[in-house]
Amino acid sequence: MKRDYYEVLGVVKAASADEIKSAYRRLALKYHPDKNPGNKEAEEKFKEINEAYEVLSDSSKKQQYDTFGHDSMGAGGNPFGGQSRYTQYSSGDFSNVGDIFGDIFGDIFGGGSSSSGRARGRTSQRRGNDLRYDIDVSYLDAMKGVEVSIDIPKREACLVCNSTGSKDGSAPKQCPKCKGVGQVRYSQGFLSFSQECPHCRGNRTIVTNPCPECKGEGTVRKRKNVRVRVPAGVDEGTSLKVTGSGDAGAVGAPAGDLYVIIHIKQDAAFKRNGSDLYTEIVVSFSQAAMGMEYEVPVVDGNVKIKIPSGTQPGTTLRIHEQGFPVLGRKSRGDLYVKINVLVPKSMSDTQKRALFEYAKTMGEIPKNIQYQSDNFFKKIFR
Ligand SMILES: [Zn+2]
Ligand SMILES: [Zn+2]
Repeated sequence: MKRDYYEVLGVVKAASADEIKSAYRRLALKYHPDKNPGNKEAEEKFKEINEAYEVLSDSSKKQQYDTFGHDSMGAGGNPFGGQSRYTQYSSGDFSNVGDIFGDIFGDIFGGGSSSSGRARGRTSQRRGNDLRYDIDVSYLDAMKGVEVSIDIPKREACLVCNSTGSKDGSAPKQCPKCKGVGQVRYSQGFLSFSQECPHCRGNRTIVTNPCPECKGEGTVRKRKNVRVRVPAGVDEGTSLKVTGSGDAGAVGAPAGDLYVIIHIKQDAAFKRNGSDLYTEIVVSFSQAAMGMEYEVPVVDGNVKIKIPSGTQPGTTLRIHEQGFPVLGRKSRGDLYVKINVLVPKSMSDTQKRALFEYAKTMGEIPKNIQYQSDNFFKKIFR
């Protein structure tokens, strides 16, 4: 369950924009990743604070949130929420935090000195959208790791104008409509809300003599092939970030990131629980009775397991460290092998004769009776 945004910022619902801003500023300074390196909890807190502020600082989003709650926030609430195979989202993502941050803090953190590697500083242009792409991976590939090649529709830098968006190479000018803010404020009675500037489409600048290829955007829509290394040990829903492989930014701004979401194809032979792997094998009655060695296919080839003599049907053997690799580590989970014992469905006369003699030694058939015909068992055991 998501926490209430007002609660996150520690303000009352009637708080003014200034109160919200100063509450955000205080909390964001406290939990900023630069001040809490390697602290996961602080990072989560920081994300939560930013998400809350992103909504509560925007009067139209705030109004929507006040009326409908979290459900109305769409992608902003859950960037990986959608069902679609290919989604674009640009809000609620941690990597957009820099934009809000730059706006509110100016140079407190020295612009691009962030340890998280986003050396963007205060760009005057819009960063490219983050993209999401879902892929299906087989069990074996998830176990071993695999390199996949995916074809994604995305915005790429325009080569005609060198991503300036300008036909004659002239520099973009500040948008006269929003005065370079990228947002315009509307008032309706008592309500006032801001919206992306329709003139510059939030870019803050406009191109006076637009490039005919990209219509002044600086980017064009293309299909791009991206190779992604899927590490061993990924699980259903694992998200891989490919930095800079999202949409190209508008007119020289940095590109967004690509998030590849992993889905694991079901496998009839294997089941997985965390990094432990479960499989079942079938051995014959005599193999279970006398014991044997059996080769089970695992990550790197086969592993030999010893089935002890007298193994009962349904017995599960645990083989240490032959399960799934633990993502990002050298260790592995365990492999559990359940042993099923097969009773022959049909036998030759020779086999029946042998089994007859066996049953005699077990005292199941009187010693004085001799094996006679194929249908003999029916009479004896009846
Ligand atoms: Zn162009
Ligand atoms: Zn504008």
